[in-house]
Amino acid sequence: MSVDRKKLEALLKWYKQEIGENLIAALIVNREGLVMSALKGADDKEVEEDVIGGVSALVEPVLTRITEEFSSGSFGTGTFDTEEQRFIFCEAGPEAIFVTVLNSIALVDPVFPYAYLAAEKIARIFDGRSVSPVIPKLFADKESQNIERKVDKLQKIKIKSGEYAFKLILGGEGGVGKTSMVHRFVEDAFQTDYKSTIGTSIMKKECDFHGLESKVRFVIWDLAGQAQFKRVRQSYLANAEAGILVYDVTRKETFDSLENWFKEIKKVSPSISLILVGNKIDLVEDRAISFEQGELLAQKLSLSYIETSAKTGENINDAFKMLALQMIKRYMFTEEV
Ligand code: GDP
Ligand code: MG
Repeated sequence: MSVDRKKLEALLKWYKQEIGENLIAALIVNREGLVMSALKGADDKEVEEDVIGGVSALVEPVLTRITEEFSSGSFGTGTFDTEEQRFIFCEAGPEAIFVTVLNSIALVDPVFPYAYLAAEKIARIFDGRSVSPVIPKLFADKESQNIERKVDKLQKIKIKSGEYAFKLILGGEGGVGKTSMVHRFVEDAFQTDYKSTIGTSIMKKECDFHGLESKVRFVIWDLAGQAQFKRVRQSYLANAEAGILVYDVTRKETFDSLENWFKEIKKVSPSISLILVGNKIDLVEDRAISFEQGELLAQKLSLSYIETSAKTGENINDAFKMLALQMIKRYMFTEEV
């Protein structure tokens, strides 16, 4: 199928002009969640690949959810909020979804009619029908009233039952036990994927809670080697919502480097939820950092602290659950519109 990409791009540009500065990005994705065309709001980077790379990283966790809805046929339009962004999704014919990413203070209602119109036009472009890429200003005429009625039906996408997957990353020096912790936690209940470009294995696992309806689904990114680390750090750390800072209680230098890890992670993903973990507590004799020292640092960084052994499995599940509970507390698990 050949799509008139030039027309899609022209349409995105018009859209950007209408929405203005609240627009972080607009993108067109296909049913598989692949980005077909994208445009960033604020800066006018012309390198298209760059834009697509950055934008798709931004929406990736949400897209998983949306494309699932999409394939179940229940999807039409929807909004979705995270702490930093608001998303508007509109089905654009049978092939595509039009995604608008706004900053968190933007109002959805005035934007939605434009998103809706744009999505209709995108559907037509995919059909190969002729359509003007120009998005008209909307006034209180009949057409916009029609659209407003549809806004009323706009459903708020709910986060519940592990539908939303949080990107989880691990920070800390080599050899502290990050990979071992993840394997312990994930055990055999995992699917693994491999991002060869950045040498990362990606695992998914849900956290359930007794007596709680909410589940938290983590997509855990674990770097395979240390060698290429510097080069891939940014994309590894980017857009992470959850993270575990790990040190080895038998090696002081791994403890001392934690503050730097903390700073670097916060710089790349400022709104990340983190916990601090002292690993290898089975090596009682070799212990170099006490529980109190660990807790003191955690307090200083305003993080929760827990000690684990990936070797014996002690506290491994609890560490991930501790983080999962933070995610539950932090994000709104709305049950109602
Ligand atoms: P990473 O580089 O941080 O991913 O660390 P790894 O998970 O690869 O672990 C490095 C080494 O420490 C391996 O030999 C592990 O078997 C060992 N290791 C990891 N966790 C523990 C632990 O809790 N106790 C002990 N005794 N060894 C551990
Ligand atoms: Mg490792």
